[in-house]
Amino acid sequence: MTKSEGMTNDEARSLTLRHSGFVISSAFVLRASSFLFWIFPLALYAADHLTVLASKPRWSVLENYQETITHDEFTHLIRDIYCTHGLGDDLLKIDNDSAQILKNRDAQTFFTLRFANDEASRREVPRLWRPAKSLPPARPEKPLAGLRIALVPGHLGGRWAKMEERWFQVGDAPAVQEGDLALRTTRILAPQLRKLGAKVFFVRKSAEPITSKRPDDFRELARKILIKNGVPQPRADVLDPNDPAKEQTVRWQSEILFYRYSEIRRRAVLVNTKLHPDLVLCLHFNAEGWGDPSNPTLIETNHLHLLINGSYLKDELEFDDERFEMVRRLLSRVCDE
Ligand SMILES: [Zn+2]
Repeated sequence: MTKSEGMTNDEARSLTLRHSGFVISSAFVLRASSFLFWIFPLALYAADHLTVLASKPRWSVLENYQETITHDEFTHLIRDIYCTHGLGDDLLKIDNDSAQILKNRDAQTFFTLRFANDEASRREVPRLWRPAKSLPPARPEKPLAGLRIALVPGHLGGRWAKMEERWFQVGDAPAVQEGDLALRTTRILAPQLRKLGAKVFFVRKSAEPITSKRPDDFRELARKILIKNGVPQPRADVLDPNDPAKEQTVRWQSEILFYRYSEIRRRAVLVNTKLHPDLVLCLHFNAEGWGDPSNPTLIETNHLHLLINGSYLKDELEFDDERFEMVRRLLSRVCDE
């Protein structure tokens, strides 16, 4: 919750909260002011072409999807859903029988995905969640019976709210913290979903992170990122919280590596390797402009929006892990949901 949560399409992807039938791409949004600076650190990983704190993609996993999709369906999903901004032949080349997907630019290695001849002969899509079509007909009194739903309250809240810049206060009123609001909302939502028959999991149950890392664990990485991006002698600490140059301090960078990148990646691991839900709901509260930051004003404007994965930017697809996740997501047919 900040003055302007600039919507980016890429973060939930890099978090890979996948395997969920209805990925409502979580609004792990970057503040507009920090975004321009923050995209540069990615250049640190140019040799590996990976995004911040990403694991190397396991391309062999895609072997499970051989002959599970026809040429026409693959082409349609690439053109109309995932790569609507276009995609060069150097990254993905579609032939009649197969697609060549770039694994590593320096090594010029490619993954070959073989297409099914036709719909009738295509192999079944492997996945750890159940498509809506495969579920038994909903019972009127328990329409969500058996459905596994993971609730992800955005951010952390509590003692971390100021650090993660999801905090504001009007006069002497209690401070508003997005992480706490989201957690409280999931606690209200959970019994209602259970009543409808769902099995509900909390990815975060308190105002504490699930990553074991803390900002101090990232000081060296933060320093390297800053040096790599033209801050040869980064300052250690933030002296004035309103100074935009605070983003060029080791403290600010190490904190964001902790509360955003490390924490969100841990949540993704929990979702993808343990919980295996059919649906992941990531809850956030967006904020409109609030005037003077030292004296914020509340306004009546209200709206609901959902973020759906797709329309990858060319710059995003340059990263090996983003490209891999995009193809895996496409092949899982999550967009059909
Ligand atoms: Zn948020």
